[in-house]
Amino acid sequence: MKTIADALTQARAAGVERLDALMLLAHVLKQSRTWLLANDDVPLNGNQTQTLPSLLARRAAGEPLAYLIGEKEFHGLMLLVSPDVLVPRPDTETLVDWALELLGNSNIAAPAVLDMGTGSGAIALALKNGAPQSRVTALDVSEQALAIARDNALRLQVDVQLLHSDWWQAVEGQRFDMIVSNPPYIAGDDHHLAALRHEPTLALTPGGDGLDALRHIIDGAPQHLQAQGWLLLEHGHDQAQAVAALLRERHFASVTTRHDLGGNARCTGGRLS
Ligand code: GLN
Repeated sequence: MKTIADALTQARAAGVERLDALMLLAHVLKQSRTWLLANDDVPLNGNQTQTLPSLLARRAAGEPLAYLIGEKEFHGLMLLVSPDVLVPRPDTETLVDWALELLGNSNIAAPAVLDMGTGSGAIALALKNGAPQSRVTALDVSEQALAIARDNALRLQVDVQLLHSDWWQAVEGQRFDMIVSNPPYIAGDDHHLAALRHEPTLALTPGGDGLDALRHIIDGAPQHLQAQGWLLLEHGHDQAQAVAALLRERHFASVTTRHDLGGNARCTGGRLS
C-alpha cells in the first residue's frame, strides 16, 4: 500500500464499501474526500500505511465506521461516539423532528423536556439546539455513556442537564412537558443483534419481547408529565401497535405513529389527557 489509490484498491479487495474506505482515508489523512479523489497518486506516509490496514480490516469485520473514526453526524450536529454508546441513526431524526414540531407549536415559554437513555446525547442535544427555549434534561444508566454525552455538550456548547439514572430513579417527583426516548427495543432473540454486536447490548435490547423498557417508560410517564404533556417513543418497525395500545391503556390521547425515511413505523407518541 503506497498511495491513496492503492489503499482504495486494497479496501475494495477486503470488501469495504467505497464510501466507507474514503471516510476512513479522509479521517487518517485529515483531508476531504474530494481532495483524496483528486490526489489519489499521493504517497502515504509511514504512519498512515501502518494505521490504515487495521482500520480497513476492522471495518471489513463489521465494526461501525463511526467507532473507527470516533464521530457521527446527527441532525446537523457532529457527535463524538465510542463503543459505549449506540451509533446515532438517521431513523431517530424522525423522533427529533416530531418533538421539534411540537415544541415549535407549544405556547409554553420554556418547556421542560426529558430524554431517557440519552447515550451520546444525540436526541437531547438536537432538541436543545433546535428549540433553545426548552430546558432539556437527559439521563442514562451508563456512566460511560454520560461521559460521552457530557463531552458532546461541552464541545457543541449546547446546554443540557445530564443525570445518572436508572430510568425514573433520579427524576422522581419531577414533571416534564415532554418526554422522549429511544430505548433498547430489540427482542432478545432477534437475529439482527448479531450484526449489531459491536454496539452496547444495554442500549439495544432489554431481552424478552423487546418491549420491557418501552413498557417501563409508558407506565411511569403519567406521574412525570404535566397535564397535556407529550410522550414520544422510538420503537422497532413491528412495535407501533403494541406501543399505541400501551399508551392508550395509560390514558394517552392523540396517539400517533410516524414513519422513518425507510418507510418503517418508527415512533409512536401521545398526549397525556
Ligand atoms: N434502531 C436500532 C437498530 O435497529 C436499535 C436501537 C434501539 O434498540 N433503540 O439498529
